[in-house]
Amino acid sequence: MLHIKCPHCGMRSQNEFSYGGDATVKRPELNKEVSDQDWDNFVYNRKSLRGKHKELWQHISGCRQWIKIERDTATHEIFKTVKASEDI
Ligand SMILES: [Zn+2]
Repeated sequence: MLHIKCPHCGMRSQNEFSYGGDATVKRPELNKEVSDQDWDNFVYNRKSLRGKHKELWQHISGCRQWIKIERDTATHEIFKTVKASEDI
């Protein structure tokens, strides 16, 4: 089980969090022509990388805030956690 340091609440059990996906995916700009392939990439296509990865998590059983985590997907080591509005 992971222990995640919420930037708002401190160290908590993974059970209090919900995984929210890849934190590096950028939504296509509004009011611009977007190809079907760009929408497919935004909505569906994800890489399943081994190693360091930036992820979104929500502290659902705590402050309910979204946070970003840099985690190794092979070892589950967490290197850094920040507020969702911050760059990781
Ligand atoms: Zn929290």
